[in-house]
Amino acid sequence: MTVTASAALFDRASAVTPGGVNSPVRAFAAVGGTPRFITSAQGAWLTDADGNRLVDLVCSWGPMLLGHAHPEVVAAVTAAVARGTSYGTPTVPEVELAEELVARTPIERVRFVSSGTEATMSAIRLARGVTGRDMVVKFAGCYHGHVDALLAAAGSGLATLGVPGTPGVPASATGETIVLRYGDRAAVAQAFAEHGPQIAALITEAAPGNMGVVPPEPGFNQFLADTCRAHGALFISDEVMTGFRASREGQWGLDGKQEGWTPDLITFGKVMGGGFPAAAFGGRADVMAHLAPEGPVYQAGTLAGNPIATTAGLATLRLADDSVYAGLNAAADTLTAAAIDALTAAGVPHRVQRSGTMFSIFFTAAPVRHFDDAQTQDVAAFGAFFHAMLDRGVHLPPSAFEAWFLSAAHDDEALQTVLDALPAAASAAAAAGGN
Ligand SMILES: *Cc1c(COP(=O)(O)O)cnc(C)c1O
Repeated sequence: MTVTASAALFDRASAVTPGGVNSPVRAFAAVGGTPRFITSAQGAWLTDADGNRLVDLVCSWGPMLLGHAHPEVVAAVTAAVARGTSYGTPTVPEVELAEELVARTPIERVRFVSSGTEATMSAIRLARGVTGRDMVVKFAGCYHGHVDALLAAAGSGLATLGVPGTPGVPASATGETIVLRYGDRAAVAQAFAEHGPQIAALITEAAPGNMGVVPPEPGFNQFLADTCRAHGALFISDEVMTGFRASREGQWGLDGKQEGWTPDLITFGKVMGGGFPAAAFGGRADVMAHLAPEGPVYQAGTLAGNPIATTAGLATLRLADDSVYAGLNAAADTLTAAAIDALTAAGVPHRVQRSGTMFSIFFTAAPVRHFDDAQTQDVAAFGAFFHAMLDRGVHLPPSAFEAWFLSAAHDDEALQTVLDALPAAASAAAAAGGN
């Protein structure tokens, strides 16, 4: 049997890196086989180490809103690199990106960090510092990065690998974390009735995407914001995935903006970094004023607001106008309709869920309202579907618990490649499923 270049590289990687990957979701643990090593990407297409061209439905797990190597982003980044890559001083691009974030969202002040994990970790620290309280409320299946206190019950990475929480996090770190079922208003009300005076913050994915896409019931986020306010806790909306992705103004543009409420703090990442390590947390000016050096809550970063990363993010957001989001919505319509047709024709139980331009296809028939529902999926059917798609040149997230990501570069040729692959993949799922 011939060994592919990707398989050979994966052997090399596994000899020097745990599991051969630098983030667990990249491994094919949930679907079998070895991950493809990607050597270049352009628009909607990846090229792997064996020269295969693949339509990318991962998009770096969300960031590549415009597609890969967008010429204007590449030009801006190339020019910025030539001016030096990091100074450890304030720079112009970080001010411009901060202004763009403040203009698009309800936040008044923003602090840049280098990953979504740092953003949520810092937002929680700030909430604790501001309120003088320790407890945090989160929902099962919502992933907020690998923050100790938030790894009490997390989403896709852990669910996919079947790890219950994780060793290495002391009980004291999660002992102040209350984990509730997503969407359960009664559970939220009860948690605040019992622990209200101790709760610093409630954090939720603005629209969960890390257990597959679970759009919040209308009014749910407003209910959370109201409940927090009534008890003097802060409402942290994690828009690391949804920010500048679900809509031009993120998930908030789909609910808070319409309903007239704002989170106290919002976290961002992924799209706002344009494919570089950049993330942020921001919110009310009076809350953010507690951060050092203005206030006493310490938070810092050597590469925070890095000029290359903020240049990439700024170029990406400036190009992400209404027509980009309209195009993403239309592409999502086309793809989900074709997937429904193919899976229905093959008799594979499935369910499409969507929030703005974000969507995922669950391999279960019943509505997925929370993490327990997501776990009713037929993962064997998904595994067969995934590999049949990959064999036909479509690179899906290697897990049934993920959003599928499109970009503005997913044109007719790219979408047609996906559409052409769907019927055979649906048949493969039917043959493997139901066991
Ligand atoms: C990806 C993600 C994070 C973590 O971001 P990293 O940059 O991977 O640390 C946090 N919250 C949500 C909702 C995410 O999707």
